[in-house]
Amino acid sequence: MHKIDIELVEMTMDVMKYAIDRISATNRKIGKPRKFEELKALVGDTITEKGIGGEVAFNLWKKHLMHANVPVDHPRNLAFVPASPTRAAIMFDLVTSASSIHGAYWMEGAGGIFCENEAMAWMVSLTGLPEGAFGVFTSGGTAANLSAIVTAREHWRDLHEQNKSEKGIIITSIGAHSSVKAMAKVVDVDVLLVETEDKLEAQALQQTIDSLPENQRKRLFAVVGTGGTTNAGIIDDLSGIAAICEKEQLWFHIDAAYGGGALVADSVRHLFHGIEKADSITIDPHKWLFSPYDCGAVIYKQPELAKKAHSQDGSYLDIFKDEGAQGFNPTDYQIQLTRRVRGLPLWFSLAMHGTDRYKEAVERGLELAQIAGKLIEDRPYVELVREPSLSCVLYRRIGWTPEDYTHWTYENHRKGFALVTPTKWRIGNTFETVSRFCFINPDTTEHDIAMILDSMV
Ligand SMILES: *Cc1c(COP(=O)(O)O)cnc(C)c1O
Repeated sequence: MHKIDIELVEMTMDVMKYAIDRISATNRKIGKPRKFEELKALVGDTITEKGIGGEVAFNLWKKHLMHANVPVDHPRNLAFVPASPTRAAIMFDLVTSASSIHGAYWMEGAGGIFCENEAMAWMVSLTGLPEGAFGVFTSGGTAANLSAIVTAREHWRDLHEQNKSEKGIIITSIGAHSSVKAMAKVVDVDVLLVETEDKLEAQALQQTIDSLPENQRKRLFAVVGTGGTTNAGIIDDLSGIAAICEKEQLWFHIDAAYGGGALVADSVRHLFHGIEKADSITIDPHKWLFSPYDCGAVIYKQPELAKKAHSQDGSYLDIFKDEGAQGFNPTDYQIQLTRRVRGLPLWFSLAMHGTDRYKEAVERGLELAQIAGKLIEDRPYVELVREPSLSCVLYRRIGWTPEDYTHWTYENHRKGFALVTPTKWRIGNTFETVSRFCFINPDTTEHDIAMILDSMV
């Protein structure tokens, strides 16, 4: 064997061993960020003309760089929306990389895309959308929201000649995720916010629409409802909003990036009533469907509208549309051309475990939120800000200032104990700093939650 080959084999073994150790470890540490200068001082120059060698580079990773990350799947990482990819999905993420699949066109990626579509068909079935609805995996909820808004806007422009010269408007609530506003900027449409962080109700939406002057009403083309707000797990009145959108002829997009996984859970499925009327839906498997990063999804009631908006043309691309390549081309339904078959790890994990295990794992996240609610009620120094919704729990430490929350967060993080971040909850025009749990990981225990609360005494 060539020297280079032996090195490669050894490196492969090292990498595999690391991956196996990492996913089978039961007592992982919560790492913490360090300043750029500190990391640079530890590792020195890593990119050089001759290369520093795989072993050296890998050791720098293992010794220093890896520890400057906070694993999202740590059971006491309850910040933002954490994640908890299944071991099966992580292993198949390695397979996905090793298989070098171009996931844009069926011609090159048929096998991988077939698997993605099996997983997608299951996700679509959870929404209850009518026959013909389908979707694609995206890099995340942001790209999914963008793809959906572009589709809605293009469809609206196709409806009337006069719309082509208008700047569009969408309505959502202040509970909507920041990416909705950010993507509206990318698409260059205006956003009207209904002033509630609580559930967006049909009546408030109708009032907002009715209050628009004629020149704005004609620019309005879509409403974005949220299926589980990121901050508090609140699900808008999807059914009521759907009825208004139908009456007013508006596109109804539902951003269920975080909450969409809960569609699988019988205990809360009824809260999503009306989702089956949406024109498009965002769901992030990398949030509550236990996929590794990055894996979002956008689903359309009428995928052909997305295809009209997103399909790319180019002489170098014609071949992909040839007879021999007949099949589903994921690139046609979202903004990205070249893409990883990022739904493949989800497919393998679903195929291996079966959908019942997903149901149980999501139900556990919901149950943990209820357990946390009880543990909070048991302790005199903390109180719930509102009842837990989906897997989000907002609570206050009585008497604490915003600085106290920040200090507590940093202190727990510094100790490698937990990552629980503060947020703000808005009532009327006042914002209160509060503490927030978001449960995804079914391995989080009641004891973990109790320890975190006890650290607030
Ligand atoms: C997380 C989230 C997003 C953004 O998704 P990314 O995958 O981070 O791009 C959008 N909407 C909601 C409701 C979210 O929770």
